[in-house]
Order: sequence, then structure tokens, then C-alpha cells
Amino acid sequence: MTDALLQHIVRMPLDNPGPRPAAVVPCGSCRRCCQGNSIVMLLEQEGDLIESYQHEFVNLPGAGRGPILKRTADGDCVYLGESGCTIHDRAPVVCRVFDCRGAYSAFMTHPRPDRRRMVKSRAVDPEILDRGRALIEGEPR
Ligand code: SF4
Ligand code: SF4
Repeated sequence: MTDALLQHIVRMPLDNPGPRPAAVVPCGSCRRCCQGNSIVMLLEQEGDLIESYQHEFVNLPGAGRGPILKRTADGDCVYLGESGCTIHDRAPVVCRVFDCRGAYSAFMTHPRPDRRRMVKSRAVDPEILDRGRALIEGEPR
């Protein structure tokens, strides 16, 4: 089941090609999407110029080998700087469209046991979901 969910998450952008609207998220000082070994898939079919990014190919569940942004040994994106993203004007499409509020809302549509499994298997990052929930509920940053 967990494998199926993970594959579903990975395949979502592949099976539903864009264009997608850019997200406007009040991230403030949050950098969670760029940390914690987050996987940022590069989507050539949606305009990402793979060779223009520091990248590596990894096994993506349900999608074979695919390119993702490189991460440092600490699990940060290699493009994360002191003040945030250092390639903001050319960030890959996944970075531009991701909204943790939508991710949290989609996550909550799953039954509780599936949600537990997703968190336990790290198919989703609970800190990103928690940030999405906090933004929806208007918690102070
Ligand atoms: S978790 Fe949400 S608030 Fe934090 S960086 Fe990602 S999109 Fe922005
Ligand atoms: S490219 Fe920029 S926005 Fe995307 S994960 Fe890296 S630092 Fe974050």
C-alpha cells in the first residue's frame, strides 16, 4: 500500500502534465521545501533544462530513473543560500508550483491509516504538511 501511495505521489506530475500556475505561498522564513532531503524532480517535459541544474539521477518509485536537484550532505538543496533560493528566477517548475497548503489539504483526503503509513514511510514530509496546516489555520509564523 505504501509503495502504491509513493508511486502515486511521484507519478502525479508525470501523469498530469502542466502548464501549472505558479503558487504564491507566504513562506516567510520557512525553507522546509529546500531542506530535509526533499526530492525536487526536474520535469523536462514542462520546460526544466536539466543540464542547467546541478542534478543527479535516482530511482523514482513507479517512474524509473529520473533527474532531481542535487542536495548537500546536510540534505539541503544545493541552491539554498543564506537568504533563501539563489536561483529564484529560474527555479525548477516543481519549486514554482508547490504549495504546502494544497499538499496538506490533499493529504487530509486520505483515510487516517493511510496518512499514518505515508508519514511513517517518509513518502510525505510531516514538517511540510504541518507548515501547510499552520498557514491554512492562520497560525503566526
Ligand atoms: S513548507 Fe510551505 S511555507 Fe515552507 S517553504 Fe515549503 S511551501 Fe513555503
Ligand atoms: S531550487 Fe530553490 S526553491 Fe527549489 S529546492 Fe532549491 S533552493 Fe529551494
